[in-house]
Amino acid sequence: MLNIVLFGPPGSGKGTQAKFLEEKYQTPQISTGDLFRYNLKNDTDLGKQAREYMDKGSLVPDEITTNMLIDELDKGKGPKGYIFDGYPRTTSQAEALDKILEDKFDDEVTVIVALVVEDEILVQRLLERGKTSGRADDVDEDIIRHRITEYYTKTAEVAKHYKAQGKWVEIDGVGEIDEITQKLIEAINDAMINE
Ligand code: AMP
Repeated sequence: MLNIVLFGPPGSGKGTQAKFLEEKYQTPQISTGDLFRYNLKNDTDLGKQAREYMDKGSLVPDEITTNMLIDELDKGKGPKGYIFDGYPRTTSQAEALDKILEDKFDDEVTVIVALVVEDEILVQRLLERGKTSGRADDVDEDIIRHRITEYYTKTAEVAKHYKAQGKWVEIDGVGEIDEITQKLIEAINDAMINE
């Protein structure tokens, strides 16, 4: 399997790039943010639980998020592997993902590619996206800044987990979209060769 983790702060381009990589590698994207939004829209119990956190731009608790991910994997959509977009976002989620891949598929994360973009560019990108995305958390600058703070306080530490496994690659996330896609593909192909 090819299990790619796309990493980076909100607005770094993970979702955009995931679409290209899905096509290239025939591995479906799993975006926990999209799954939560689907549940919000359909007013499911899970959506009700997640709403209070998402509205503030805070992370949803690990247990809720990880159970949702397991349910998605149980659908079996990715025999060749997956692109994880927006998960893991805490060290505990990173540990959970290792265990899930091991237990379910006797496999592991192939590579984690982190898109690096400076904060003020993120804020501008998200405000711009908020004009059309229909996402409440993209409209209010305070919520956007809180999401970025959550990234630095809870999510950035995930890097340590993957650096220790020798799977961490950083890519400049500012530039032409197709150039960034090319750099991601190079990093992923390198990781596949070295696996
Ligand atoms: P995203 O679309 O990835 O920006 O996620 C939107 C929101 O969904 C985040 O601000 C969190 O409230 C929630 N969320 C998405 N993925 C996770 C995750 N892995 N852990 C906790 N909360 C998450």
